[in-house]
Order: sequence, then C-alpha cells, then structure tokens
Amino acid sequence: MPSTPLLMIPGPIEISDAVFAATCVRPASHLAPGFKHAFAGALRKMRTVWRASADHHPFVVAGGGTLAMEAAATNLVDPGHTVLVVNTGVFGDRMVEMLRRRGANVLQVGAEPGHTVPLAEVRNALHEHRPHALFATHVDTSTGVRVDVAGLAGLAREVEALSIFDGVCATGAEVFEMASWGADVYLTASQKAIGLPAGLALWMASPRALEARRALNSPPPMTLDWLAWLPILEAYGREDDAYFSTPPTTLIPALDVSLGELVEEGIDAVFARHASVAARMRGAFGAMGLQSLSHAPANTITALLWPNGADGRALAAIRDRGVIVAGGLHPVVRSTYFRVGHMGAVTRDVDALRRTVEAVGEGLRAVGGEVDVAAGLAAFDGV
Ligand SMILES: *Cc1c(COP(=O)(O)O)cnc(C)c1O
Repeated sequence: MPSTPLLMIPGPIEISDAVFAATCVRPASHLAPGFKHAFAGALRKMRTVWRASADHHPFVVAGGGTLAMEAAATNLVDPGHTVLVVNTGVFGDRMVEMLRRRGANVLQVGAEPGHTVPLAEVRNALHEHRPHALFATHVDTSTGVRVDVAGLAGLAREVEALSIFDGVCATGAEVFEMASWGADVYLTASQKAIGLPAGLALWMASPRALEARRALNSPPPMTLDWLAWLPILEAYGREDDAYFSTPPTTLIPALDVSLGELVEEGIDAVFARHASVAARMRGAFGAMGLQSLSHAPANTITALLWPNGADGRALAAIRDRGVIVAGGLHPVVRSTYFRVGHMGAVTRDVDALRRTVEAVGEGLRAVGGEVDVAAGLAAFDGV
C-alpha cells in the first residue's frame, strides 16, 4: 500500500510492502549469519539486475548516489587525466565539478536543457581528444532526458576509454546491459528505482575498471577506495566474516528483498513495465494539454512545462490533493517546469498512477492553469 500523500518525486520513491517490512526490524550484527546470507543474496541479484557477468564486481556502501559518483571519479581518474563528460543537466555538472577537484582535464559535450547530445558529436570528441574515460548520466533527473547508453559505451570502446554511467534515476527501470554493452561502471542509489529508503550507494565495476584502479598513481580517499571495499564485498559474497566500516545492517537485507522482487518478476518485464507506464503517463499529461521539457524522455520521470496560468504555486495545490511531485531543478529553466517520478513499486499500482494524473490536473486547475483534466483521465483510462 503506498503512503498518503503519495510520493511521486524522482526519489525517494514509494517502496513495496515487503521492502517496508524488511526495514522495520531491530538492527542485526554485521557478522550475523542471517545478515551475511542476505548480503550475499543481494550481491548475487545485483549481477542479474545489472545484466553483469561473473567477473564483474558489485559494490554496496553506505551513502548515496553522489558518493558512488565520487568513488568512480577518484578510483578511475588520476590528476592530469583527460576525461569527457556527456553533460545533460545538473548531475553532469556535478560530475564535472568532482572530476575538476580530482585534478582532471575535463572536456564536455552538452546540450540545451531538455535535449540529449547527438552520438556523432560524442564520437568526434572521443576521436579528437582520446580521453581516459567518458562519463554520462543515463537519465538526467533535472530534465528527464535519457541518453543512449548502449551507443555511448560502444563509442568509448572504439577509443579504449573507460565508460562510467550514472544510473541513479535509471537502474532497475531503464534497459541496461552491463556485460553485452561493455560498460565499465554503472552506479545508483537505493532510494531511486531500486526501491528502498535512502542510504546505500550501489555500483558494478568491470574487470577493466578494477585494472584502472590498480594502475592509479594517486590513491582515492580511504573510505571511497574500491580496493578497500573489494575484499569485504568478496567475503560477504562467500558469507564470510568481514569488517572495514560497519555496513547498514537493516538496509542491506531490505536490498536483498527489493532486488529479489525485480529478479522474480524478470528484469525484462520490469523494464517493459516502466516503459508502458511512462507512455501511459505521458499520454495522459499530453491529452491534458501539458508539454514535456524533455525531447528524449525517460521511462522513470516526466518533466512537464507549467501550462498557461500555472506556476510553482501548483505544487502545494497538488500536495493538498494527496500527491507530492517535484519542482524544477535545472538552474537555467527551473521556474518553467515541474517533475513527476514514476518508478519502482508504484508502477504496479494503476490506482495510484491515476490518482497522480488527477491530482496534478486538479492542482494545476486550482491555481488557474489551463488544463483539460477530463481529457487527461480519459487518455489514462484508454477511452
Ligand atoms: C538522485 C541522483 C543523484 C544523487 O543521488 P544522491 O543519493 O542524492 O546523492 C545523482 N545522479 C542522478 C542522476 C540522480 O538522479
């Protein structure tokens, strides 16, 4: 049962009943057999959800998506390395800043807010500059833009650059194939499509990425060091005792439950569910008269321009109708749009999705927005 008000932002998201139950327990020891068993299960299921192979390395560390990004920046890049960032919004900007602080020579290819970067432009930049690594955001949460990760990973391999993808608003919802696409790092956080409360940074590293860490001249900060965590995660994978820094012993068993739901449904079915829900939500919002900010829309989030007559005041009016959506985030266009998240457990709940469409429409209308709520609901219902 989702909560009231319904949380329809791009993370944290509504969680399933089973995940909720798993989080409502007394803390376990990090050496308890049950905890080690759950940790091993979670690591195994990560490989399935990421579409990784046996030689890829899953990491689960207390923290958020930002920590996973910084771990990638500091484990793969030495000061002086040239790197290329495919920058589609706020999280691309964040990656650029982290890489600059690491002392990298940061090149960027970008686009206007709401647009993706053409692959041809990325290919040119890669062949011209031969960077050590390429960084991109799978779904930019600030604009709802999705990039072509398969294409970017392939281009990076053409020039033997590492490819690192921020999947924080995508992993577990958008199609991703770690092994067959040849991506080197795919990172996320627990509070997005993975479907947990906030608190875990999750990533998968390829053997090539591990080699790049081993070849580094300037080691990363100790708490971010992949090589400090690797033996711990390998030990947990065997259900052995291990300690470096205490893992979140409540969230990790909940992670095993959450990933278990995805694995049981089948990851292809999970991806298909998100695609069909996104199409249905966009269809309803479009029929209502709303326009998408994103010209390459994601399946996890929809960014919508405020209609004539409405603005940020509508957020409170929508919340009064039982649904929490998010305001704009991209600094250049922040006041022109709002964002609706549709990922995780809630995408199985047609009633909650319909309530979202209705609350958004009624809330917009309450502040004077020009929308046709009935047309939006009719489109949602398929009539
Ligand atoms: C939410 C998000 C982050 C940051 O994750 P935190 O857990 O808030 O640190 C990074 N990248 C993207 C694409 C995100 O959506």
